[in-house]
Amino acid sequence: MSHLHCKHCDGKVSAEDEICPHCGIPLPPEHGREKQTIFRYWFIALLIFCLFMMFWLPPNWLQFGGK
Ligand SMILES: [Zn+2]
Repeated sequence: MSHLHCKHCDGKVSAEDEICPHCGIPLPPEHGREKQTIFRYWFIALLIFCLFMMFWLPPNWLQFGGK
């Protein structure tokens, strides 16, 4: 997991911190979560899409194009 930096003092902060441990400035609630959440949503969406295509396509779909 990558280290995040406080915009005020450039100190290292973790995604769970609500305030900067170095300078005490309040951090945005989503300062560390946003990218990770978007990535996870994309991953789950891709996984569901793959499963959906597997079940939606006929079992012998490989034979359709290669006759
Ligand atoms: Zn700071």
